Amino acid sequence: MGWTAIKVITTNEAVEAVSYILTDEGAVGVQIDDAADFAKLKPGRFGKHGEIVDPKTIPHRASGAAITGYFPEKTFVPELVPIIKQRVQQLAQFDLDPGEGSVVADQVNDEKWATVWQKYYHPLRITSRLTIVPEWEKYQRQSPDEKLIILDPGMAFGTGTHPTTRLMLEALEIVVRGGESMIDVGTGSGVLSIAAKQLGADDIAAYDIDEVAVHSAKRNLALNPVASDVKVGVNSLLDGIHTQVDLIVANILAEIIVPLVPQAMENLRPGGHFLVSGIIKDKAELVRNKLHAAGFIIDQQLRMKDWYGMIAHKPTEDEQ
Ligand code: SAH
Repeated sequence: MGWTAIKVITTNEAVEAVSYILTDEGAVGVQIDDAADFAKLKPGRFGKHGEIVDPKTIPHRASGAAITGYFPEKTFVPELVPIIKQRVQQLAQFDLDPGEGSVVADQVNDEKWATVWQKYYHPLRITSRLTIVPEWEKYQRQSPDEKLIILDPGMAFGTGTHPTTRLMLEALEIVVRGGESMIDVGTGSGVLSIAAKQLGADDIAAYDIDEVAVHSAKRNLALNPVASDVKVGVNSLLDGIHTQVDLIVANILAEIIVPLVPQAMENLRPGGHFLVSGIIKDKAELVRNKLHAAGFIIDQQLRMKDWYGMIAHKPTEDEQ
């Protein structure tokens, strides 16, 4: 199978937003070459994996950033390139300078894709207790309470490194006490279900609208024995689901969270938590208003760069 690489040349400040645009348009992986990262490297310093870094030997950009999204071969490039170009230009409306904003497509073969992917995806300690480890890497725990999430992200969203996922992992660490029942809406690679299991959640159902994601989640759950009892299936949001759980998580675009809010209210027991992420700055108010209107109490708002996440709960009987 071949891949299409779509490269956007932009500014350092627009890196996260452009990565999001590429992912949102269907990129299954994103590679970032940011001159600002390079500027921090000092000769002789150790790199992430213990190697000695000589910045002069590393190919890099002198300024700005190049972000490459990898898309499945079936992607219709002539249509996608102008859409991405337009969305990158629109970043100016959010006070983000898109810079050059050029968008170029290229074909890559499977072999190149595999090496590119593996080169940029390494174990990453996300929170004090959660570390993401790519399936193909050996990793030694650095402390006894560190929990591992083994992932082969493959074609689904959810390498764990995207800010929206990281916010959600932080939120899970704040909320999960152990024994909770949970629904993971838009599970992607299954990363949030695995994390919740590692933190002690009990019964989990994970859904995604995309069959490729469901397949990937199943594979990843099998890689993590702690999560092997998570149930996964194709479903749009919580359509047709009428249950009572302690926790619902959803890392999806704000526009998709909006119709989910009343469904989450119905499916949570009083006192149960609703964690949302995937919300870009200017949509935070929309989601906050929707949560309030449905009767949720917002406990915390989390932020990473221009991304927002929220921890809300359904009022207990005493709070009503
Ligand atoms: N939970 C993962 C993946 C988030 S990406 C993480 O936090 O990293 C969002 C996922 O939501 C994608 O896998 C996408 O296929 C899925 N999705 C989008 N719209 C959906 C809908 N209406 N119902 C269920 N899943 C949906």
